[in-house]
Parts: sequence; structure tokens; C-alpha cells
Amino acid sequence: MSFEDLNLHLSIIKAIHDAGYTTPTPIQQQAIPELIAGHDIMASAQTGTGKTAAFMLPALHRLATPSKVNSRGPRILVLTPTRELALQVSEAALKYGKYLPRTKVVSILGGMPYPLQNKLLSQPVDILVATPGRLIDHIQRGRIDFQRLEMLVLDEADRMLDMGFIDDVETIAAATPATRQTLLFSAT
Ligand code: AMP
Repeated sequence: MSFEDLNLHLSIIKAIHDAGYTTPTPIQQQAIPELIAGHDIMASAQTGTGKTAAFMLPALHRLATPSKVNSRGPRILVLTPTRELALQVSEAALKYGKYLPRTKVVSILGGMPYPLQNKLLSQPVDILVATPGRLIDHIQRGRIDFQRLEMLVLDEADRMLDMGFIDDVETIAAATPATRQTLLFSAT
């Protein structure tokens, strides 16, 4: 199977070629068709298997079509347990989305100053990558509009649970539209 067989938008295929990838990894071959078809998935995948692209490529594929909802809030939300993982996800979004016109990526992480985050959240956002605790603060202050949210990704969900983020993750999920697509990735 090649990336062309996955029916991804041509701008994404071009960026994948630039990255030097020739063949989708097993998790990508399994997850991408399901996600493009709009299904929810639960997947077991370790770091190093290509799981970030497995969710980011279909997420970007969604962004290739403009939203019908009149809002500036995120269309894709990725929750990660740590800052390091959030930064890797943000980098992947920029790398694979570099030829798409709509890929404004914002990271909301604990330990970063609030004024900067408030400014970032007051502008249009396509992909929001966040650690749960800090995101909850912004949701409670009414700074995030989830009206046009289409996809919720729980990356390393097992670690988020181990770190005690279960209530935060549930609160965040409840704040997003019930129509969203939900993806859960876990190493175990
Ligand atoms: P991840 O499991 O998401 O942490 O990805 C591990 C590494 O594999 C990253 O450095 C990616 O750039 C790389 N990668 C992801 N998909 C592919 C692919 N289909 N072919 C080659 N490398 C890939």
C-alpha cells in the first residue's frame, strides 16, 4: 500500500513525500481509512510506530475542506499527557500541513504565561494541542469556542489516566460537540 492509496488530499501527500516517507506504517494503514470514513477509533500504538501521522494526516485531510460552522475555535483538539509530546504533535501538524492553507496550530501547555495563551486563543485556531490541566483553566474562563470542533484525539490516553487527568479529560470531552469524531491512542 502507498500513501496515494489512502485518498489523502494531494497537499498532504506532497508534504509526506518531502518528509521522505514512502510506505504507511501498519497503524497508518489501519487507522487512516477508518478515520477518513469518519469512524471513531481506539488503537494500541507505541511511540515510534508512526501513530502521530496516523491521526494527524486524517485531521489535516478534514481541514482541507472549509468548516460550515461560523466560528474561530479549533476544528481539531489533541490532548497529550506532557509538554514534550504536545510539542512533537504540533511539529508534526506543521510538517504535514505545510501545503494546506488552513493549518493554524496553537499549543496550550502548563507552565506557559497566560497572557500569551489568551492572545493565541483570541485568534482563529484550526488545530489545538493541549495538556488537560491548562486547557480546563481556559475552558472555565470561557476562552475556547468548541462549536466547530470536529475531532478529539486522546494521545497516550493510558498515561493521561496514570497521571490523574481522567476528570479533566471527561470535562473537556463534555465541552465539545457530541457529533465530533473521537480517537483514543494508548501504548498498553
Ligand atoms: P511516532 O510513532 O508518531 O512518534 O513516529 C515515529 C517516527 O516515525 C517519527 O519520527 C516520524 O517522522 C516517523 N514516521 C512516521 N510515519 C512514517 C512513515 N510512514 N515512514 C517513515 N517514517 C515515518
